[in-house]
Amino acid sequence: MTLKVDCPTCKKDVIWHSDNEFRPFCSKRCQLIDLGEWADEGHKITQPIQGAAVMTEDMLDALEDEFLQHNKFFVEPE
Ligand SMILES: [Zn+2]
Repeated sequence: MTLKVDCPTCKKDVIWHSDNEFRPFCSKRCQLIDLGEWADEGHKITQPIQGAAVMTEDMLDALEDEFLQHNKFFVEPE
């Protein structure tokens, strides 16, 4: 007798077996998708981490410029 569950990601039947290291998921892909959704609370799976890193670097540059400008403001109060 086998126990079957629904894969939480794609709803396929998954046989609950100790050989299935991804249970209750049907595959590693579905497991990763679910973990990613947990980490991000939703729908950012399509954004790869490296894309975010590039954006962060650009944003840091922009923030640094802005910070320096504001800092200059504060340094010259008169
Ligand atoms: Zn699945």
